[in-house]
Amino acid sequence: MSTANRYQHIKSTKPVVGKARKLKDLMIKSDNRICADCGAPDPKWASANIGVFLCLKCGDVHRALGPDISKVLSVTLDDWSDSDIDSMVEVGGNSHANSIYEAFLPKDHLKPKPDSTMEYMTKIIRAKYETQDFLKPSLRISSRSSFKSTTSMKSVDINFSSTSRKDISEDTREFVGELNITLVKGTNLAVRDMLTSNPYVVLTLGPRRADCYELKLDLLYLFLHLFVLHLEDSLDDWFDEQLENYLDDDYLVFDCPGQIELFTHVPVLRNFVEHLKRKIFNVCAVYLLDSRFVSDVTKYISGCMASLSAMIQLELPHINILSKMDLISNKKDVEEYLDPNAQVLLSQLNRQMAPWFGKLNKCLAELVSLL
Ligand SMILES: [Zn+2]
Repeated sequence: MSTANRYQHIKSTKPVVGKARKLKDLMIKSDNRICADCGAPDPKWASANIGVFLCLKCGDVHRALGPDISKVLSVTLDDWSDSDIDSMVEVGGNSHANSIYEAFLPKDHLKPKPDSTMEYMTKIIRAKYETQDFLKPSLRISSRSSFKSTTSMKSVDINFSSTSRKDISEDTREFVGELNITLVKGTNLAVRDMLTSNPYVVLTLGPRRADCYELKLDLLYLFLHLFVLHLEDSLDDWFDEQLENYLDDDYLVFDCPGQIELFTHVPVLRNFVEHLKRKIFNVCAVYLLDSRFVSDVTKYISGCMASLSAMIQLELPHINILSKMDLISNKKDVEEYLDPNAQVLLSQLNRQMAPWFGKLNKCLAELVSLL
């Protein structure tokens, strides 16, 4: 039976409503009409926590991995909970999941085909999801504790490291400390699941600590925040040691993460700059603004204000650069903002905004044309 026919069948016996409708809409997307692992047509199974649609054969391999790694459900026979459907919808289907789980699939590693042996399928599927051999290294989690159950777990320590110590010793990166993540509790937990779990975790790096309630939303920001605080703690020892490796005429570039809050809401970067100045470095700030952001006058003003906040915070010689120009299809859209005219900006702002913003618009346009 084709996918379309099956849906007609479902529709005739049981109306597709609410969340079930979302699952149906996801299923009929072209990438979900073939098995995520072997490419067999018309998959009728799915891994709810990983977010992929699977054929019967691959579904069997997934089931053997255990529900803590892959929660296998029949699309047509099982009752789906709302959270299982949400998980599937959030991942967005086979293409997106494979872009993560097969990001580093070696060229000589052939994906299984529908007629591959069970042994080969098992080997590749285990490597893909259990040991995550093809996952982007920065997304890998190595688990110190073994997860026994998805529901009975109360507190588990996970040792998180984007690169192993061995990797670090082989290149120029420095091991600055071990980030510990304590998982306090969570929902939909599955070992190594980066996409659908919703844990409450506590991060500690040295004496610093940060709490994170929503892994997928806040962890990166919290980690960066924790890391810059750790860097600040290390300025007088570890960081100074690093600086000794450079000569007077060396140029150093400190590439900062794109979280503007780190530079406007906390004084870490300011302290970092002051530290460099005390070491008699000439410091200059280069602010990169995504040129796609400069698509109309209000976004342009907003970008300028963000850059201005960094300038005020750091009080350094300051260069603004529009980045990613290659992604702009019509360069003329950006050109008019390169040398802005206060009157032109003001008339554009006034056209887009309510009359009572007139006075503010005038101040902003004059300020931006001076920057
Ligand atoms: Zn398959």
